[in-house]
Amino acid sequence: MGARDDAAAATLRGLPAVHELATALAAPHSLAVAAARLAIEEERADRRAGARARDDLTARARELLEALAQPSLRRVINATGVILHTNLGRAPLAQAAREAVARAAEGYSNLELDLDTGERGSRQAHVEDLLTQLTGAASAMVVNNGAAAVLLAACALAGPGRAIVVSRGQLVEIGGGFRIPEVIAASGARLIEVGTTNRTRLRDYERALEEHPGEIGAIMRVHPSNFRTIGFVEAVPVEALCRLETPVIDDIGSGVVAEAALVPALNDEPGLRRSVAAGAALVCCSGDKLLGGPQAGVLVGHSDAVAAARAHPLARAVRIDKLSLAALEATLKLYREPERAVVEIPALAMLSASEAKLRVRAERLRSGIGPAAVPVRCAGTAGGGALPLLELEGPGVALAAEGEGGPVALARALRGAAIPVLARIHEGRVVLNPRTLADDEIDLAVDAVREALRP
Ligand SMILES: *Cc1c(COP(=O)(O)O)cnc(C)c1O
Repeated sequence: MGARDDAAAATLRGLPAVHELATALAAPHSLAVAAARLAIEEERADRRAGARARDDLTARARELLEALAQPSLRRVINATGVILHTNLGRAPLAQAAREAVARAAEGYSNLELDLDTGERGSRQAHVEDLLTQLTGAASAMVVNNGAAAVLLAACALAGPGRAIVVSRGQLVEIGGGFRIPEVIAASGARLIEVGTTNRTRLRDYERALEEHPGEIGAIMRVHPSNFRTIGFVEAVPVEALCRLETPVIDDIGSGVVAEAALVPALNDEPGLRRSVAAGAALVCCSGDKLLGGPQAGVLVGHSDAVAAARAHPLARAVRIDKLSLAALEATLKLYREPERAVVEIPALAMLSASEAKLRVRAERLRSGIGPAAVPVRCAGTAGGGALPLLELEGPGVALAAEGEGGPVALARALRGAAIPVLARIHEGRVVLNPRTLADDEIDLAVDAVREALRP
């Protein structure tokens, strides 16, 4: 053995065996062994890198044990100001929706049972009336997300052997690789493109209908959710398309049900009611964007079109689960009282939070954190591919990141908190935006920041 090997062996001297350390942890065997192994490997790497031996390796193993015992899917605090943050689960649920999920999760439920007759029922029955009442549609159904709603609509109204007409300005990618031409291809229908990227006129659709008699199953209209075109642009309003006597699938994306009068920001997003009133055969939207509910896809429209969607074999593959259904029913119920909806549905409340309310929250953050926090103005956004031009200005706090590693290290430490806090880095500082914090999350955020700033 050379001198260098001797030195290496000396640095590793005194490391316990995995089973010894695991026994000291008093935890279920496999978890204890995993934590002990991690602690020893970490210690070995540290010492090789020249660090001094740790005083208490058992304490470190206990920390790692705690981390291993944590669920992978956890609650986090969103201080980014992005309301429908796709990476953070999009719309947070209203309290009524959370309670409904807990009740549905408690035991069995009447998911597909008619309690009057004792016969088999439909899971759609729990939301159909709510959706038709709220939107004015003749019929409605829900599936597991917005993408599934669009795919099912294309399959039900067109599919193999038939065609779907789409404006070239609406052959968009929504995100996560969801591209309209590919969705139509997946339905088996042929895509007929009309118009140009910037301008499509009614005459373009009419010509397609004349040139392909009997082949066209539907005209699809897609809301360009996450971008806007400006300048020399023209698109055909849904009302004009619906007069063409061909079923219209209107993918409106984020699904506004709220009264725009109560949340002015929503004026720039298409609402379900308008497309229904125009006469679209199927209007599709997401449940967890501006509707503010759980992940779900909504289809409302003509009775025969909804019946075709329900009867299609794909409907079973994209059906909604009972927990999401419970949350969706409770969320939709809140909309029966429009004033209550904009207060109790978190996404809507965040969108319309007043300057005064945000200032109170920002001040609580600032005073709780102490001198490291300074008041700033910051910009929130709707996120979730909705209202891409909307900038929600408001008060926030910026953190002085004096420690080694600067703001990146501080943001990382915040993500490592017991309840991780997600913040944005803007102009070299970590910024906390109170718009996306619930009132009862302020103290949790303060604790996490103070912990992360501790030298
Ligand atoms: C978001 C969106 C979808 C997909 O909805 P998910 O609920 O994310 O599956 C489809 N079309 C449009 C126009 C959208 O904005």
